[in-house]
Amino acid sequence: MLEAIGLTKNYGEVRALRSLDLQVKSGEIYCLLGANGAGKTTTLNIFLGFVQATTGIARIDNIDVSHDPIATRKRIAYIPETVTLYGALSGLENLDYFSKLSGIKHSAESLHGFLEQSGLAVEAHRRPLQGYSKGMRQKVGIAIAIARDAKVLLLDEPTSGLDPKASNEFSQLILAMAERGSAILMATHDLFRARETGSRIGIMRDGSLCKEFAAGEIGHRDLELEYLKTMQEG
Ligand code: ATP
Repeated sequence: MLEAIGLTKNYGEVRALRSLDLQVKSGEIYCLLGANGAGKTTTLNIFLGFVQATTGIARIDNIDVSHDPIATRKRIAYIPETVTLYGALSGLENLDYFSKLSGIKHSAESLHGFLEQSGLAVEAHRRPLQGYSKGMRQKVGIAIAIARDAKVLLLDEPTSGLDPKASNEFSQLILAMAERGSAILMATHDLFRARETGSRIGIMRDGSLCKEFAAGEIGHRDLELEYLKTMQEG
């Protein structure tokens, strides 16, 4: 569903990505770990069509992002560290607005249903977003992804700053999205969350994918040791 083949990105002298190969299938959650500047956001930005690769191919649903970024963008829901929504509008209104932007008009009943699936308390549906916590905003982001029936979910440090309960709830939501068949690529610094949620975990350093682990193949402690070892090898 999501594939990078020999992706390279240079920003002038800076080599942000060096021949990155990556695959995420439907139903998989791929967690991308790596120090600041390893190239995680650049990878996501290439899939989003925000940044053009210097060389290599990024494909979503077998469509080359550089050939048809509009078609690939339609298949993606993107949740950054802080979901950007309209503070004066309620969760329900934001969901309605962003669904319509994607060309989908849902009934009020369906919109409430998506917010409920995302775990947002019913009492909050009609409250202005400016009173929401970060975790509640992330839930609206997930509701938008559900409403758009996104085949691909790109997440950039989505649990950063969430308390452990909110972070756990977020993990349950993306696990449910994966069960529905979405392919999920999540950049994160949270080793614990990656180990708990990921079907596969990749460790990046200096624009390359250095190590990959399947879920269940590695324990929390060993993942931390492997991560630290990879950073020291640089
Ligand atoms: P973080 O964990 O801090 O978000 P990251 O793994 O997401 O880091 P990137 O943001 O992809 O890393 O950055 C990879 C490299 O590319 C870094 O050296 C960064 O300084 C550089 N870089 C990223 N964007 C640009 C840009 N627009 N112009 C120049 N250099 C950039």
